[in-house]
Amino acid sequence: MAMEWLKNLFSVKRAAPPPAVAPGIYHAMQEAEGLYTRFHLRVERDGSGMLIANAAAAARLSPTGVLIAKDLLDGKHEDAILRDLAAHFRGASEAMMRADIAQVNALIQQIITPGDTYPVYNLDDAALSPYGAQLIAPLQASLPLAEPEKIVPLLDKLWDAGIPHVTLLAPPAPDADHLVRAIEHAEDLGMIAGVRGRATDLWNVELLTALTQAGVDHITFLYASNAPAVHDALCGAGDHAAAVALLAWLEANQLCAVAELPLVQTTLFTLNATVRTLIAQGADNIAFVAYVTTDAALAEQDGIFAADAMPQVATMVEEAAHEAQARFIWDPPVQRDPAQSLAAQVQRGPRCSGDVAVRVEPDGRVIPPRGPYQSAGNLLEMPWNAIWDHAVFRRYRERVEAPTHCDRCPGLAICAADCPREPAGWAQV
Ligand code: SF4
Repeated sequence: MAMEWLKNLFSVKRAAPPPAVAPGIYHAMQEAEGLYTRFHLRVERDGSGMLIANAAAAARLSPTGVLIAKDLLDGKHEDAILRDLAAHFRGASEAMMRADIAQVNALIQQIITPGDTYPVYNLDDAALSPYGAQLIAPLQASLPLAEPEKIVPLLDKLWDAGIPHVTLLAPPAPDADHLVRAIEHAEDLGMIAGVRGRATDLWNVELLTALTQAGVDHITFLYASNAPAVHDALCGAGDHAAAVALLAWLEANQLCAVAELPLVQTTLFTLNATVRTLIAQGADNIAFVAYVTTDAALAEQDGIFAADAMPQVATMVEEAAHEAQARFIWDPPVQRDPAQSLAAQVQRGPRCSGDVAVRVEPDGRVIPPRGPYQSAGNLLEMPWNAIWDHAVFRRYRERVEAPTHCDRCPGLAICAADCPREPAGWAQV
């Protein structure tokens, strides 16, 4: 089901009637008991969409949900919404339509008060798959941190393109002022905004407090293993202690914690205990990223995975996550770059988060999540549609759309986009 959902997200082939709500971005402000909530509704080409509240949480919506949400944000009465639904969607009883309205209302309440859960709800909801979203843009962008003169125009362009979620990639010893200002600007625009880095570089109460005040929605940090020696060998001396302290602070301050777990031989040995520890200590989400190679000698030397090992590794990882009831995503596998040490590559991390994402470099180049590191165009110089329709993204979508699941390891979520043993589907160096 997850595979179908992901493939449908990228499908651009289906001929469909015009959606009930035209594709694009809609903005609204609502007041209840003196509290204001800012909404942005992004509608895809097929009428499905995403509703974002207060630049802090978002939920995916079916085409029916989009129409209901739009009408609710426009302040329409339930009877008027029922008439709109009846006009656009045939065959539903009044009771079903009223139940749908109640469900969207409940979802809106949930994203208004998200607590410390991961800020994007129901991203993996298979129930949305029959509608086959045709995205107008990815849902998330990862941007290496740069000075405000560079980051601000990029954030503006991303927001104009309809990309609602940005993750700033913090370098070693990040400039706190740059980071806080980037988050502030993203929040001012209405974006969901997160930071990704090593705990060593983020574990600073002053910085975290400033980021919280600026409105940061999640902190993603490396957590390789519950065994300090295994973790520190990849993430740097003392980083495990910093990660433990950071996770405790995030839990105490109700800020969403995403643990990025790099998968290599050593971290696979401690995987079950690591996942259980993360969940027990309050991590809200785990992002798995495997480091892989086609070079058997390099795999042996670095203790990483050869391509053929990946289905078995993925099976072990997903079993561990399911057993611990962990919410997780897969980042596209990263091809090992022998030009840098394994630790340096792990610390740099994946190209971007998941498959409905892009990487945007500080100079504006836009890179797809998988395949060769190739720019699809420059965000500062080209309209978004030209970038999204560039051959680089078309080739990427073709791979994601092509059937990948087979019966060798049934039920794996990782092959939603591509078989993990296929080098063409890795984030290549
Ligand atoms: S595509 Fe087939 S071999 Fe590859 S991971 Fe999925 S089920 Fe396993």
